Amino acid sequence: MQEPQQQHQDHGGHEDQDKEYVGFATLPNQVHRKSVKKGFDFTLMVAGESGLGKSTLVNSLFLTDLYKDRKLLNAEERITQTVEITKHTVDIEEKGVKLKLTIVDTPGFGDAIDNTECWKSVADYIDQQFEQYFRDESGLNRKNIQDNRVHCCLYFISPFGHGLRPLDVEFMKALHEKVNIVPVLAKADTLTPTEVQKKKIKIREEIEQYGIKIYQFPDCDSDEDEEFKQQDLELKESIPFAVIGSNTVVEAKGKRVRGRLYPWGIVEVENSAHCDFVKLRNMLVRTHMQDLKDVTRETHYENYRAQCIQSMTRMVVKERNRNKLTRESGTDFPIPMGPAVSESETEKLIREKDEEVQHANHEQESHHDQEHEAPHNSEHSEPDQEKH
Ligand code: GDP
Repeated sequence: MQEPQQQHQDHGGHEDQDKEYVGFATLPNQVHRKSVKKGFDFTLMVAGESGLGKSTLVNSLFLTDLYKDRKLLNAEERITQTVEITKHTVDIEEKGVKLKLTIVDTPGFGDAIDNTECWKSVADYIDQQFEQYFRDESGLNRKNIQDNRVHCCLYFISPFGHGLRPLDVEFMKALHEKVNIVPVLAKADTLTPTEVQKKKIKIREEIEQYGIKIYQFPDCDSDEDEEFKQQDLELKESIPFAVIGSNTVVEAKGKRVRGRLYPWGIVEVENSAHCDFVKLRNMLVRTHMQDLKDVTRETHYENYRAQCIQSMTRMVVKERNRNKLTRESGTDFPIPMGPAVSESETEKLIREKDEEVQHANHEQESHHDQEHEAPHNSEHSEPDQEKH
């Protein structure tokens, strides 16, 4: 009884296969080839108090010396401090895949006497990158736009405080609408495993309590396998990632590893039993890099863009009202607008865009006029051709 059914199914299966294979199943391969050819880029920002190991961690993360141009005091200690926002770009390649990695180093705060609004320059920097992108995107040549938008900000929390300090709260709240914040607990080797766990719980509670919106890992799909779900849960529970950085290679159990040597033993950077370094690196590089870029584009940049367009609309309405008043008063002189207000960067951009649009409209109109005249001219020549 079963055989014919089987045969029928087989037959149907072949038919299905013949029917189904148009060829779009190769689309992922096409996308893959194109993306590999183009290469990838990623911009990571590091922020937090100075001396918390930001530069050391970044070097350890990408196994590359991003700060080699800086003078070194000895194997580890730098004499130069980050006093302004600096950008380091390296091109790294792995199995033929190219990654242009940009690290944005921010001045370690806490050094200045007055630390109020120390986040301001960082927030401005992020906005400037959005603004540049917005300009390029609405310009005439939209090919090969250099994307300098910041995709992720590793925020370093001191291991010596009791949870978050007011400055940490202020900083993260000032930036959370602009960038994906991933908090890290710095220099975890200075704490015992129990202390690390306690601090993590406290920091997570405070993040919730103060309404800080850190980067949210996307929820797992229901059809994801158990192992993946477990990894995802572990990742969420690791926040803030307890990290250890080191630029030196030490020998542990006959193996050469990145680590820190103490009289009582060795802490290995890449040992999951010692810290969350590997989890953080996997998250940044292997599992969530694309999502961090997507959230930057779809949420943070979109917010910025919407705000820009809103103020653009407001400007146009204001301008129209002003023109109306000028017409109604029957004078060519502009109506006094009250005290002079300095033009912000965004307003300047909007004004320039407005002028560009007006210019383009004007061009189009004159082109249109010419086109209207053109058939008139050709009427004289075409009948001639027809005659032949
Ligand atoms: P930055 O100012 O935040 O960039 O900090 P640096 O990376 O320059 O590090 C400041 C000092 O902390 C250096 O002496 C580093 O060797 C040391 N350091 C960096 N990471 C760690 C760490 O994970 N644990 C410990 N104990 N020291 C660290």
